[in-house]
Amino acid sequence: SLVFNQIKLAGFKSFVEPTDFHIEPGLTGIVGPNGCGKSNLLEAIRWVMGANSAKAMRAAGMDDVIFNGTKTRPGRNQAHVTLTIDNSARIAPPAFNDDDILEVMRVITKGSGSKYKINGKTVRAKDVQLLFADASTGANSPALVRQGQISELIAAKPSNRRRILEEAAGISGLHTRRHEAELR
Ligand code: ATP
Ligand code: MG
Repeated sequence: SLVFNQIKLAGFKSFVEPTDFHIEPGLTGIVGPNGCGKSNLLEAIRWVMGANSAKAMRAAGMDDVIFNGTKTRPGRNQAHVTLTIDNSARIAPPAFNDDDILEVMRVITKGSGSKYKINGKTVRAKDVQLLFADASTGANSPALVRQGQISELIAAKPSNRRRILEEAAGISGLHTRRHEAELR
């Protein structure tokens, strides 16, 4: 799958100042005190890959991902997240497969929705979603492990554990459809 090198964000949720994280190869864990932004960072990664659901973003409306200010600090008008990907294995779709490095950027401006760019070129949301879907990464990828998911798995009853694993494997939809078929 695609290798993430770096994530840069500004104006996104609690990351108001431009912030960048270098991502080392292999398994990455995010640790820190409550409220420091761990979940926000994971959401930023999902968001730049094209996630749009309110649930995935813990936001009522899409503009809610924009830093909305504190008592001492005014809110922002814009949020952007840039994900830098190592494409030296050349596994991106043909339209984006000429470069070793892919910079995927998503910007949202209050009241006017979001725009996407890949290596500076404006693209559709669909292009970004397909880029990650083709590489089996994507916002719903089991490679992104939500907070509490591991302890949930350990503590779960066998039947629930199966559900969690199916969700991670991306086959829970199939199970639902089979169940519907059996009822008919
Ligand atoms: P925990 O360990 O409790 O899960 P966490 O490290 O995952 O904490 P987050 O949930 O990522 O923390 O961050 C929560 C903080 O982000 C809260 O202080 C919340 O006010 C802030 N936050 C969320 N959305 C916005 C926004 N749009 N503007 C400003 N701050 C925001
Ligand atoms: Mg959290």
